[in-house]
Amino acid sequence: MERCHFCGGTLVEQMTTFLYENNDQIWIIRNVPAFVCAQCGEKEYTQETTHRVLMFLKQPSRPADILHVPTYDLAMAVA
Ligand SMILES: [Zn+2]
Repeated sequence: MERCHFCGGTLVEQMTTFLYENNDQIWIIRNVPAFVCAQCGEKEYTQETTHRVLMFLKQPSRPADILHVPTYDLAMAVA
């Protein structure tokens, strides 16, 4: 896994924040290792990391932090 399969850019391994949305719940998981394209920003995860995240979502531990996040609706936005 060395090149982005969308644009061919270089992939750099770094920690990312993983967002997962399920119905009305949003999960934010910090420090998820990914290969990030230096050109387009596309993130790729190894099978092992994907597996770890999926297992974590089944049995999450106590949150490290609780955020209050403003949400917006483009359909309600005044042009
Ligand atoms: Zn790319």
